[in-house]
Amino acid sequence: MKTLLYCSVCSGALSWVKPQGDNISRSVCTHCGEVHYQNPKIIVGCLPVWKDQVLLCRRSIEPRKGFWTLPAGFMENGETLAQGAGRETEEESCALVDVGPLFTVMSLPGHNQVHMYFYAFMRSDCFGVTAESSEVRLFGEQDIPWSDLAFETIRQTLEHYFSDRQQGVLGFHVLDLERNHD
Ligand code: ZN
Repeated sequence: MKTLLYCSVCSGALSWVKPQGDNISRSVCTHCGEVHYQNPKIIVGCLPVWKDQVLLCRRSIEPRKGFWTLPAGFMENGETLAQGAGRETEEESCALVDVGPLFTVMSLPGHNQVHMYFYAFMRSDCFGVTAESSEVRLFGEQDIPWSDLAFETIRQTLEHYFSDRQQGVLGFHVLDLERNHD
């Protein structure tokens, strides 16, 4: 991925070269020598559950505006995974949750991202629309809008949840998604 044009340290021009001792090419400043590493981003979210229903949000922003998702977003500096998952859930759905066990971890090498979803217990059935969600509602398994889900990561997480629930065991799923739909 070659996206930077200028050095964020000295504004010098960047070149795309292998630093000494490295085995892949990086953006390296031709002026000050700074190596600008680019690494995958972490997206963290929740699978909020109330009784036998799960909470989904209809996206009011791109990408995939109008499609249904689980509350999730980019992890921020200075927070833990669980804090990020809870924060994103409140921001996108107004729901307060107790963040439980980590449920899915999905590598998306084609997008340079890692997505993680926690199982989460809703403290009440209070939730509502937000700046990022035009609609927020609980769905039983029979009502899940499978053809209107925003991302493959959401489909995977929901499919594993309902499959695990049927077997009476909540598992932990590490998945590699070479292709996805976002
Ligand atoms: Zn520089």
